[in-house]
Amino acid sequence: MFLRYLDRTRKTIGFQLTLWYCAIFILSSLIFFVLIYFFLSLSLQQRDREVIQAELEDYLTKYQKGGTDALLKEMEENKKEMEENKFKKGVSGEDYFFVRLAGPGNNTVFLYIPEEQAKFDLKQFENRVTKGNRRWSFFSAKNDKVIYEILSYRLANDYLLQVGKTITKRKEFLERFRAIFAAIIIPVIFFGFTGGAFLSFRALRPIRYLINTIRLIIDTGKMEARMPTGKRGDELDELSKLFNTMLEKIENLIKGMREGLDNVAHDLRTPVTRLKGIAEIALQSEQNINILRETLSDCLEETERILTMLNTLMDISEAETGAMKLNLEEVNVANLIEEVVDLYNYVAEEKNISIHATFPKELYLTADHNRLRQVIANLLDNAIKYTHSNGRIDIEAFQKQQEIVITIKDTGIGIPAEELSRIWERLYRVDRSRSQRGLGLGLTLVKAIVQAHKGYIEVSSEPAAGSLFVIYFPKKL
Ligand code: ADP
Repeated sequence: MFLRYLDRTRKTIGFQLTLWYCAIFILSSLIFFVLIYFFLSLSLQQRDREVIQAELEDYLTKYQKGGTDALLKEMEENKKEMEENKFKKGVSGEDYFFVRLAGPGNNTVFLYIPEEQAKFDLKQFENRVTKGNRRWSFFSAKNDKVIYEILSYRLANDYLLQVGKTITKRKEFLERFRAIFAAIIIPVIFFGFTGGAFLSFRALRPIRYLINTIRLIIDTGKMEARMPTGKRGDELDELSKLFNTMLEKIENLIKGMREGLDNVAHDLRTPVTRLKGIAEIALQSEQNINILRETLSDCLEETERILTMLNTLMDISEAETGAMKLNLEEVNVANLIEEVVDLYNYVAEEKNISIHATFPKELYLTADHNRLRQVIANLLDNAIKYTHSNGRIDIEAFQKQQEIVITIKDTGIGIPAEELSRIWERLYRVDRSRSQRGLGLGLTLVKAIVQAHKGYIEVSSEPAAGSLFVIYFPKKL
């Protein structure tokens, strides 16, 4: 049980982020330490070498002035002085100095090593330095505790002059530095880990909210669940907001689908019930062939209504999902409008409505001829349906830059402002229109076809004054 929990924790992003943060924190601390250590030891060595070099220069001046004798004299004097002081100031002020002069065959002519450190293998001091050259080297006492850094110089008479200094203090200082780092590495790891855990916990908070929200939706089916959003404006905040917007869209879509389905069921039930009623009455009545014929014709009419509704619904779905097949061709819009107006002239005349069409003779548009006719026919049909007798309808078509614009204007009952945005919905009908025949699918289909042609449609209306529908099509698809 515990092992499984451990395994699950190990796989979480939070834990991995913490480890990464911790690793980066420790690594950068290490790099920082190594760099400081490197430059510190380099600078300490530089200072030590400067002291040794100055000492060597002193001896060289003596040698140049008075030869080997003067050099030896200076060395003896210094030895006495050093023995008295025991210490001579170096980097730390406590380091010991070393001086040696070797004749031909590496025979030591003069040697000064502080007595306490004398356990040296003198062979170590043999040094192949060519005349006039300097060379740095290290020598250590047998117990390795004392290390000298030595500068060797071959004099003009082939003698080897060596001046050096213990680096004990330098070593001690660096050792202490390493020890301090070793002591603070544990708190560093601790801070790295807790800092990483805290940061990843904070950074992943929106992800946890996301998981909880999704889990709530899955478990309870409550689509109204939302993620809390902050004001930080970072990427995760953006993700939360987008997720909430997506949820809202899905919720609206589901609501729309439910309503749509309810409406379809409701709108289908009426004609089907009527169909059933007509058939039942026909069966109960006497076998009069004329009554039966009439009944069959009523049945046919109702069936046609149902079929039209189902076909339109399918057309809308196809157009909206992009599955509608468009037979694109160059359509002469002028001819098409004339054709549709001719078709509806009879109905319009019955209501004494005049239709005025204005368009240039040659106006072409890349579109599906039949679908475009459906669009204009539906809009003209509505205009006639929702306009009182003696009204007027104006159809216009023209080119505006790269767009073909078709407008249909009536002097009808108009649409209330609060209903304007809803008229495009499936099966939506403004209450006042219920007296007219219709399915509430015409405008939904119009919009879907226009959009399938990459166009758009706008409406403006004033109740009791009339409506204006404007369609914009790109001239070339
Ligand atoms: P319907 O079959 O009811 O005409 P539509 O989808 O074509 O369905 O139109 C939806 C609703 O928009 C109609 O019920 C009507 O209320 C309103 N409408 C559409 N065109 C007009 C118009 N030209 N004048 C007034 N109302 C209109």
